[in-house]
Amino acid sequence: MIPDHVVVVGAGQAGGRAIEALRGQGFAGAITLVGAEKHLPYERPSLSKEMLLDLGQERIVWVRPAAWYDEHKVERRLGVAVTAIDRAARTVALADGSSLSYGALILATGTTPRQLPILHHSHPRVLTIRTIEDSQALRPCLVDGAHLVIIGAGFIGLEVAAAARAHGCAVTVLEAAPRAMARGVPERISELYAKLHRERGVDLRFHAGVIAIEGERPIVHLRSGERLQADAVVVGIGVIPNDELASAAGLAVDNGILVDAQGRSNDPAIYAAGDVAHHHNPLLGHSLRLESWQNAQNQAIAVAKTILGQDHVYAEVPWFWSDQYGINMQITGLTDPQATVVERGDLDGYAGVLFELVDGRVVCAVGLNAARDLRVAKQIIGTKLPVDSAALGNPAVKLTDIYKSLKSAS
Ligand SMILES: Cc1cc2nc3c(=O)[nH]c(=O)nc-3n(C[C@H](O)[C@H](O)[C@H](O)COP(=O)(O)OP(=O)(O)OC[C@H]3O[C@@H](n4cnc5c(N)ncnc54)[C@H](O)[C@@H]3O)c2cc1C
Repeated sequence: MIPDHVVVVGAGQAGGRAIEALRGQGFAGAITLVGAEKHLPYERPSLSKEMLLDLGQERIVWVRPAAWYDEHKVERRLGVAVTAIDRAARTVALADGSSLSYGALILATGTTPRQLPILHHSHPRVLTIRTIEDSQALRPCLVDGAHLVIIGAGFIGLEVAAAARAHGCAVTVLEAAPRAMARGVPERISELYAKLHRERGVDLRFHAGVIAIEGERPIVHLRSGERLQADAVVVGIGVIPNDELASAAGLAVDNGILVDAQGRSNDPAIYAAGDVAHHHNPLLGHSLRLESWQNAQNQAIAVAKTILGQDHVYAEVPWFWSDQYGINMQITGLTDPQATVVERGDLDGYAGVLFELVDGRVVCAVGLNAARDLRVAKQIIGTKLPVDSAALGNPAVKLTDIYKSLKSAS
C-alpha cells in the first residue's frame, strides 16, 4: 500500500534525490524532510575540489533550489536531528522535542568523518571535510607559504593536497598504509598518484604514525620522533556510517543499515539509501556499503520507486571519480588485489585505462582522463563475460566494439 506520509531523515544527496524521485514518479502524499544540517540537500564532491580551489564564486551544488521544495510541497525541518524512531507507533522524535508520524521512513543519514583516536577534543585548526562549513573553515587556511599537514592519503586527503598546492601551501601528507587510496584503487594507480603528488611538491610519507597533536598552532608528533609545525591539519581517515538511530530502533545493522536490493530494511515501513545503506547488489552477488555520488543518487531513486510499489532492483556497477591537479580519475567496479592487470593507453602520461580481470572477466577499471572509455568499461563489467585481454590492451581496438561483441555473444 502506498503510504500517505513519507518522512526522510537526512537532508543530504540521497535524501534530496529520494524526494525528487517520489514527486517525479507522481507521489501526491505528504513529504517531510528532516535534516541535522541547516542546509537544503547539496552534493559534497565540490567541498574538496571547486570550493577549495575557489574559482571566483561559491561552488555549492544544491540538489534542487529552495523554490523547488515549495513548489513540490515538501515540508522542511532543517537544523534539527531525529533522535529516535518508535517503530510500533511509526513516529520519529526530533531534537526540538517534536515528533512526526510516518507511513514510510527513509533513513539517508550518511556518514561522519572518523576522528583521530589520539585527539581527545576538537581543535580549531584540526579539520575534517564533510560539510559546507568544514570546507569554508579550511579555505582561508590555504594561503601561500602556510604549512598544511594532511593525515590520510585517501581521495579526500589527496584532493585537499592538490588544492593546497594550487594556493602555494607547503603540504605534508602522512599515511599509515604503504600506499595511497589503497581501499579504492589498484597498486599501479597508487604509485602513479604518489609520483604525481611528489612531483607537484607534496611531501608524501607512507608508514607514518601520528602519536599526538598539541599546541594552538598545531604541532604534529610522529612515531619516528619528528615534530611537524603546521598552520592547519586536515584529517581524512575515512568515515563511519550514521546508523545509531537505526540500531537503537532494533533495525538490522552491520557497518550501515542492512537493506535488500530495493532498499528495504527488516522493518517493512523503513528504507535506507546512500552512504549509510549496507545493501545487497544482485549484479555483484554480495552486499556492500558504498560512499559515492552515483550510489547516493540511484539508490535513493530505487527506494522511492519501491515505496511507490514499483519493483525496482538497484543493481549497478559502482562508479566513483576524483579530480587532482586537473586530472580526472574515474573508477568503476571494485578493485581486487588478486586480479590480473591490463593497461590501455598512456597511464604514465595520465591518459589511459587500467583494467583488472578475474577469471578473464573485467571486475574493475580505472581511467585517467578517459571518461568516455570508462563509460564503456562500466558496461563491459556489467556483462560479467570473459573478454579478450589482448584486445582490451590494444588502443586500436575500440572498447565499444569489444562491448558490442560481448553483447551479441550473450
Ligand atoms: C569532501 C567530499 C568529497 C567527495 N567527492 C566525491 C567524488 O568526487 N565522487 C564521488 O562519487 N563521491 C564523492 N563523495 C561522496 C559523496 O558525496 C557521498 O557518497 C554522498 O554525499 C552520500 O550522500 P548521502 O545522502 O548518503 O549522505 P550525506 O550527503 O552525508 O547526507 C547525510 C545527511 O544526513 C544528516 N543526518 C545524519 N543523521 C541525522 C539525523 N539523526 N537526523 C537528521 N539528519 C541527519 C547529515 O547531517 C547529512 O546532512 C565525496 C564526499 C565528500 C565528503
